[in-house]
Amino acid sequence: MSASLSLEGVRITYRGGREPHTAVDNFSLLLPAGRIGCLLGPSGCGKTTVLRAIAGFEPLRAGSILLGDRLLSSAAAHVPPEQRRVGMMFQEYALFPHLNAAQNVGFGLRRLAREERDAKVARMLALVGLQEAGARFPHELSGGQQQRVALARALAPEPALLLLDEPFSNLDSNTRERLTTEVREILKAAGQTAMLVTHNEAEAHAMADHIGVMHNGRLARWSEQEQAPH
Ligand code: ADP
Ligand code: MG
Repeated sequence: MSASLSLEGVRITYRGGREPHTAVDNFSLLLPAGRIGCLLGPSGCGKTTVLRAIAGFEPLRAGSILLGDRLLSSAAAHVPPEQRRVGMMFQEYALFPHLNAAQNVGFGLRRLAREERDAKVARMLALVGLQEAGARFPHELSGGQQQRVALARALAPEPALLLLDEPFSNLDSNTRERLTTEVREILKAAGQTAMLVTHNEAEAHAMADHIGVMHNGRLARWSEQEQAPH
């Protein structure tokens, strides 16, 4: 089941340099269940930091993160990443090169019995339009196909929330445009709550129901946008 995401007064501070560096501050938003949100802003403004905190890889100095009514993070509490039901599709999260497409998609499903897992892998590959490609290895797939396999892999464990960090930025502009629309349709068909980050304005508008403009670690605006019919 997809859940709503709520961030309230979030502050994230990096230590380790000569002085602590507050990368994200006073950051609040509400993304309703089943909606696609997008954080838009230039490189270095803190987009990845926000996603890493939602995924559980950065602690909060202040504020809270909730998924549905479940507290994931605050200054005092921290649910470990693997217990958050948060899926990720990051640009740098390449597929496992030594596993074929079906094995990549099934990777997070190892707890399931064989038959159930195989059925789910087939369903997920069909969802991303790659039902014929299960036996192919990553190097036998185009960049766009690889990202669709990565999407199927991220969706397979049925996360309550999916995070996408610039997932299309390594692709040529034609593939990127096509895939943006396709991925939106897939997420909508699955009723998946998702949060995308990008520095590409066209991508944000093509993909998202809610767009937040980020500037220097702060959210300047969080607004709902009209979507073209999908
Ligand atoms: P974006 O994803 O929008 O490009 P980031 O979230 O990666 O931005 O970075 C936001 C700020 O935090 C930048 O100033 C960056 O240099 C800093 N930063 C990111 N990761 C770390 C880290 N591990 N340690 C210290 N500073 C970091
Ligand atoms: Mg980034």
